Amino acid sequence: MPVFRAALALSGSYYLAAKLGFALTPPGSPFSMVWLPNALLLAALLLAPLRQWWVLIAAVLPAHLAAELQSGVPMPMTLGWYLGNCSEALMGAGAIRLVCGRPPRFNAFRDAGVFLFFGVLLAPVLSSFIDAALTTLLHWGEGGYWTLVRRRIPSNALATLLVVPFVLTWAQGARLSPGAPRRYLEAGIVLGGLAAASLVVFNWLEPGAGARQAPALFYAPLPFLLWAAVRLGPTGVSTANLLLAAAALWGAVHGLGPFVSGSPEDNARDMHLFLIAVTVPMLLLAALLAERRRVELETRLQRQQLAHLSRVSLLGGLSGAIAHELNQPLTAILSNTQAAQYKLAAGGEVDRGELGEILRDIAAADRRASEVISRLRALFKNSDSQQQDLDVNDVVREVLDLAHGDLTTRHVTVVQLAEEQLPKARGDRIQLQQVLLNLVVNACEAMSTDGAHERVLKVETRRGAHDGVQISIIDSGPGFGASAETLFEPFYTTKPHGLGLGLSISRSIISAHGGRLWGSGAPGRGAAFHVDLVGALPGGHPTLVQ
Ligand code: ADP
Repeated sequence: MPVFRAALALSGSYYLAAKLGFALTPPGSPFSMVWLPNALLLAALLLAPLRQWWVLIAAVLPAHLAAELQSGVPMPMTLGWYLGNCSEALMGAGAIRLVCGRPPRFNAFRDAGVFLFFGVLLAPVLSSFIDAALTTLLHWGEGGYWTLVRRRIPSNALATLLVVPFVLTWAQGARLSPGAPRRYLEAGIVLGGLAAASLVVFNWLEPGAGARQAPALFYAPLPFLLWAAVRLGPTGVSTANLLLAAAALWGAVHGLGPFVSGSPEDNARDMHLFLIAVTVPMLLLAALLAERRRVELETRLQRQQLAHLSRVSLLGGLSGAIAHELNQPLTAILSNTQAAQYKLAAGGEVDRGELGEILRDIAAADRRASEVISRLRALFKNSDSQQQDLDVNDVVREVLDLAHGDLTTRHVTVVQLAEEQLPKARGDRIQLQQVLLNLVVNACEAMSTDGAHERVLKVETRRGAHDGVQISIIDSGPGFGASAETLFEPFYTTKPHGLGLGLSISRSIISAHGGRLWGSGAPGRGAAFHVDLVGALPGGHPTLVQ
C-alpha cells in the first residue's frame, strides 16, 4: 500500500528531523535554529490526496513522542507541540491546496507566491500563537508568550522554505534541467561551487569575520545561487538553497562563520534573516524563469500543432489532384505489365532487350508513385522541427511534383527559374514544403477566378542577401485588392470556404526560421510572394537575413 509506505517514510524522516532539530539547538539556547519536522509533514500533506491526510497525521505521532520524550520534554508539552506542529502543517497544506487546487508547482510563479504566503508566512505565524500559548500554559518555555512566538516563527518559516520546495520538486519528477548529461555536469559544478563557497564563508572564516573583515567574501555563494536559479530551475535552486542553509547552520552551531558574534538569539535572528532574504528571491526567480520557459514551449507546441492542422487541411484540398497524380504511374505499371504478358503469351523468341525496357519503365513508375506517397506521408506526420541544410531547388521541385495534379487540372503553366549553384539554406524540409505548397495552391486558386486569362506560375530561386536564398512565387492572377500586409492577418480570407490561416501560419514558420515572407503586386497585375531564407555556412552556422 503506497500510503502506508509513505507514512512509514514520513514517520522515520520526522523522527530524524526532530533529532536534528535538537542537535541544531546551540549550547545555552532554549530553541532550535531550524525546526524541520513540521515542514516535512507539510510537504507530505501537499503531495498526498486529502483522504489520506489522517494517516500521515497519525503516522508522525509515534515519531514525535519518541524524539521529544527521549530529549526530556514532559508528556503534556510533547502533546502540546504535536498539536502545534500538526496545526501548522494542516493550515499551510489546506490553504495552499485550496488556492492552487493541487500540489503547488514551483515552476509556476503564482504557485510559488501562494506557497510563500500561506506556507512560509501565515501557517508558521498562526501556529506559533497556538504553540506559544500551550508552552506558556504548561510553564515550559522561558521569556514569556511573545518571546516564544517571536522565536518560533523564523525557525519554522525557514524550515518550510527549505524543505517543502526541495521535497516537492524532487517528488514531482525532478529534472535538474532538460537535456543532455552535460546539464548534470553543469549542475555538479554549480552545486560543488556553492558548497565550496559556503564552506569558506560559513565554516572557515574567523567567527564574525564574514561581515566585518571581508564583506565581499560574504556574497561568494550568491553567483552560484543565481546560476542555479537561471540554469537549473526550481529543483536546482531548492537543492542549492538547502545546501547554503546547511553550511550556514553547521557553522553557526559550531561557533564558526559570521553568525556567532552576538547572543544566541541575535545570532539565530541574523542567520534566519540572511537565509530568508537570499532564498526567497532565488525561489521566485527560478519559478518566473521556469514559467517563461514553459509558456514558450507550450506556444511552440501549439504553433506546431496549428501548422500541422493547416498542412493536413491543405493536403485534404489537394487529395483529388494527388489521387489523380498517383493514378498515372499505376496506369503505366498496369499497361506495361499487360504488354509484357501479351508478348510472353504470344510465344516464340522473347526479345530480352524489349522486356528489360518494360521492366525499367515499371520500376520507374513504381518509384514515382512511392516518392509521392512518402512525401505525402512526411507532410501528414506531426513531427518535431528538424533543421538541416537544404537544397532549395530540390524542395521547390518536390512541391511542384506534389502540386502537379492540381496545376494540370487547372491548366496552369509552370515556369521554373532556378539559379544554379544556389547556396544551401537552413530549415525544416517539411515546413518549407508546407509554406511553398500553400503559396502555390493560393496562386492556382487566384488564377482560377474569372479575371485570369493566361495562367502562368513563375517559381524563381536566387541567391539572397548574406548568402541566403530567396524564393519568389509569382502568378498571373488578378492580384490582391487589400494591402499585402492584410493578407497575413489571421482569418483574413476572400474565399467562400477559406480559413484565412495559410499565410499567417506560413509567415510564422518562416519567421521561426529567421527568415521573411512578404507579398507584393498590384490589382490586375498578378501577385508575387517572396520568401527569404537564412543561408547555411560551410560549418553549418546560420547567417540571419535582416
Ligand atoms: P485562405 O487561402 O484560407 O483564404 P490564406 O491565408 O492562404 O487563407 O490567404 C488569405 C487571403 O489572401 C486569400 O483569401 C486571398 O484573398 C489572398 N491571397 C492569397 N494568395 C493570393 C494570390 N496569389 N493572389 C491573390 N490573392 C491572394
